[in-house]
Amino acid sequence: MNPLRPSRPVPGPGPAMGSTAGAPFRSSGTAESEPLRLLVVGSNGRMGRKLCTAIEAAKDLELAGSVDSDPDSWNAIDPRKVDAVVEFTHASAIVGLASRLEALGKPWLSGTTGLDEQERHAIEHTAARVPVLWAANTSLGVALLRHWLREAAELLPPDWELEIVETHHTGKKDAPSGTALALAEVYREVRGGKLMLGRGRESDPREAGEIGIQSLRLPGVVGEHRVHLSNGAESFELTHRAHDRVAFVLGALEAVRWLVGRPAGLYGLDDWAQDRLGN
Ligand code: NAD
Repeated sequence: MNPLRPSRPVPGPGPAMGSTAGAPFRSSGTAESEPLRLLVVGSNGRMGRKLCTAIEAAKDLELAGSVDSDPDSWNAIDPRKVDAVVEFTHASAIVGLASRLEALGKPWLSGTTGLDEQERHAIEHTAARVPVLWAANTSLGVALLRHWLREAAELLPPDWELEIVETHHTGKKDAPSGTALALAEVYREVRGGKLMLGRGRESDPREAGEIGIQSLRLPGVVGEHRVHLSNGAESFELTHRAHDRVAFVLGALEAVRWLVGRPAGLYGLDDWAQDRLGN
């Protein structure tokens, strides 16, 4: 399930992109060696703190400012010194932030999850005017897993069956994970199929084409997603493990590097992957 289905941006050549992870650039076309200046929104949070640390450690990035829930924290921000915004906050903050960031007019990467329809709409509205990349999972490994799973769905004959197992720490509130649902959706977009969230004693036997998702909860697991594909005669598994939340931070920074200079529109990490592959 990808609640914010990226709408294709307005086609156009767009400025040349700083397309390699460490490449220094600024979208405004200033000297190549100048770092990309990022504003972190939600800077006191778990993701925000890691983002600030990672930005300060990256040679091609500069922390242009940081804001959290106190509206006064915006007073210290000089829009002329911001190239892009990286935001990990809370779904309830999105409507207010969307209009503020639309007025700011800078590319906006949002990793905030749990959005309702109104919040998704607010992001889409802003994306009509500025480039916005929203991703519920900013890990680049998960982006690649999605890509390979889509390829499997397109290539394999219909008798190949998919099951997904996700494992997270015991404190995780939702099950299955949004990422597991999104992986299932990638497959379903190509082949259809009924979702089966867990199986119990009352469950009917598995139907052909059904996509099962099982959730494990164990202490200390940041996040693991395993997709199993089988036709009975052979099988294979693809596994992604996040060892540290910094995986989401590094992916978000890679994505915002890519986003700067794009035309207005709503993007996802699938767009990043397609672009990197030259498709
Ligand atoms: P957190 O609760 O630790 O931090 C959120 C921060 O946002 C807090 O400091 C809070 O004060 C701040 N905030 C709330 N409203 C704000 C506003 N209006 N303006 C500015 N700041 C505001 O949460 P977290 O673990 O850092 O996660 C943040 C969000 O990112 C959540 O939605 C989480 O699910 C999501 N997340 C996404 C990914 C991903 O890969 N996309 C990874 C981890 C977390």
